[in-house]
Amino acid sequence: MTPRNVALIVPLYNEEALTGILVREIEAFRRTRPEVQEILLIDDGSRDATFRQLVRLTEGLDGYTLVRFSRNFGHQLAVTAGLDLATADAAVIMDADLQDPLDVAGQMIDKWKEGYDVVYGIRRERGGMSFTERWSARLFYRVFRRFSGVDAPLDAGDFRLVSRRVMDAWKGLSEQQPYVRGLIAWLGFNQTGIEYDRPERVAGTSKYPMVKRLQLALDGLASFSAQPLRLAVRLGLLLAAGSIAGLLWVLVTKYVLGTAITGWASLIFVGFFFGGLQLFFLGVVGSYLARVYDEVKDRPRYVVQDMRSSRGQAVGAAMPEQNAGAVVGEEPTKH
Ligand code: UDP
Ligand code: MG
Repeated sequence: MTPRNVALIVPLYNEEALTGILVREIEAFRRTRPEVQEILLIDDGSRDATFRQLVRLTEGLDGYTLVRFSRNFGHQLAVTAGLDLATADAAVIMDADLQDPLDVAGQMIDKWKEGYDVVYGIRRERGGMSFTERWSARLFYRVFRRFSGVDAPLDAGDFRLVSRRVMDAWKGLSEQQPYVRGLIAWLGFNQTGIEYDRPERVAGTSKYPMVKRLQLALDGLASFSAQPLRLAVRLGLLLAAGSIAGLLWVLVTKYVLGTAITGWASLIFVGFFFGGLQLFFLGVVGSYLARVYDEVKDRPRYVVQDMRSSRGQAVGAAMPEQNAGAVVGEEPTKH
């Protein structure tokens, strides 16, 4: 059998507190797993010493590629860059804070060798999350599955192994705001999961505040489902039907029972209520429109400021064309 090598894809954003532990753990892992030959560390525009530290820590080590975005483009795009750049036969996407344990990555590699194309981690326990965060996450995965019509695994984040076939298929997707876990589920292939307890991050603080988390959830839903738009149609019909019933009731009280209806002050609230509802759905429509606008502009999804290997070689032309225009250094991709 030809030797099959595996890549690790690790996005980092302001993680100076843990770069040392991360590289140490990866090196220890590689001693037990020599098939791990490519490590892509994607610095998502950190403002702290993350990149400098990575350069220093990996100097002279084999197989590291360091990528630095020109600014913070977001975790999902850092993962996208990793998937675009990886050359290995399979890649494991994992967080820098070691909340996605390396020994589980090892189990994923074993499953891949059994013939699976996607091996995702299913979170059994969630370390370091509040009650609300934990339950909102659980609820979201269920809502997503219901609305997206995609057979997405429940309680699985982006921690997963993907095979070369999946990475090649991935390159055909050029969404501006890719929702990685949803898209990989959408791609299909042989998928399986491994349950694991998610530990707390080894150092530093979460780079995913509630607002970003919510944004990711909304992005995920909007990129996979037009249900919110249909909801407006259904609710509109329901209200129209209700208002006809209301009109009949008004006519009956006036002409049959002979009493006028009092309490017209309540009208104003009815007015506000429907005004609010209309604005809300206008917003829903608007957010879909904004996504379309984003796609049409077809901007590069991320911009790479610096890319180098740990052996000191310049890594140049490795940017795949399908990336809907990734830009390396000074050379913008032509369309
Ligand atoms: N991350 C990133 N860009 C961002 C936010 C986060 O690359 O804008 C990285 C971060 O460095 C980490 C991973 O994404 O490796 C997951 O982030 P974090 O651990 O903060 O999220 P949580 O585990 O709290 O959901
Ligand atoms: Mg984390």
